[in-house]
Amino acid sequence: MADVLVLVDHVDGSVRKPTLELLTLARRLGDPVAVHLGPGADTAAPTLAEYGAVRVLAADAPEFTEYLVVPKVDALRAAVESVSPVAVLVPSSAEGKEIAARLALRLDSGLITDAVDVEAGDRGPIATQSVFAASYTTRSRITSGIPVITVKPNSAAPEAAPAAGAVETLEVTVTEGGGGTRVVSRAARESTGRPELTEAAIVVSGGRGVNGAENFSVIEALADSLGAAVGASRAAVDAGWYPHSSQVGQTGKSVSPQLYIAAGISGAIQHRAGMQTSKTIVAVNKDEEAPIFDLVDFGVVGDLFQVVPTLTEEIRTR
Ligand code: FAD
Repeated sequence: MADVLVLVDHVDGSVRKPTLELLTLARRLGDPVAVHLGPGADTAAPTLAEYGAVRVLAADAPEFTEYLVVPKVDALRAAVESVSPVAVLVPSSAEGKEIAARLALRLDSGLITDAVDVEAGDRGPIATQSVFAASYTTRSRITSGIPVITVKPNSAAPEAAPAAGAVETLEVTVTEGGGGTRVVSRAARESTGRPELTEAAIVVSGGRGVNGAENFSVIEALADSLGAAVGASRAAVDAGWYPHSSQVGQTGKSVSPQLYIAAGISGAIQHRAGMQTSKTIVAVNKDEEAPIFDLVDFGVVGDLFQVVPTLTEEIRTR
């Protein structure tokens, strides 16, 4: 079987869940070969092997952390040259998308971003995307060169399929000066103890109907009872009730969780653009005509200040 390159998203060798999802999808296309850049390849290898990596190509250089994406593009390009894969799968993070775009340019091939599914086709991998503010679902294929595809978190449930996963050293010549943009400092964001919004399996979002920053505690309580991340509509963010980093939608973050709960959100097209690919959508809204009800799997017509705390209580007792 042909090889499929998967760029590993990790923190010092601790593999993040989107990579396990990519490995699961990659197995539909061929044999996954993981590309691990930075420290911790030996730590990561058993996990990568458990999810189907037949090999782990590892490279570590100070440039990977000292500079923004270019050294990683150099390394991924070297991996492509050594493996000649049928596709390169990259996580759809901000960094992943920039790496993927630069790689596709260097390979003179095509790029598909924010895929929510990937499958094998007779003439190459086919990626499913939700486009034009989620108005259409497209299935597309790259017609020339090695396809580079970024895949959104939560697009597949990770499934183990043990493989060899031996670590091999990848020889990389890094662009002199790291491509120009040097990292001057890094600051960890203060942790809320909740999962990262774009990776969470469950997201609970509040909108203008929450009616005040102080009332977001109702949304947070439901999120915490479910182990979920908290999101917000732009109306709630613009009002200063919740941070912009939590905004879901066209000009915010794009999420695709197993379960998305929208409370006090009308369902404007720009909000839908960021959450429509969620697997199950639940809305609580006091207006039965609210457009959000057109796309939900389950809708509750009611006051969120009654419905959401009742739901939270019920979940806590189970
Ligand atoms: P509203 O539309 O005001 O809806 C509030 C809802 O709460 C109503 O349906 C109401 O019935 C309900 N409600 C009120 N009180 C209660 C209660 N007590 N219990 C239950 N329900 C209640 N929006 C985004 O969200 N994300 C984006 O990224 C984004 N990008 C945009 C980009 C552009 C270029 C533009 C023009 C707009 C963008 N918007 C975005 C804004 C978008 O058009 C909407 O204005 C916004 O999504 C509305 O937010 P909302 O649903 O919270 O508020």
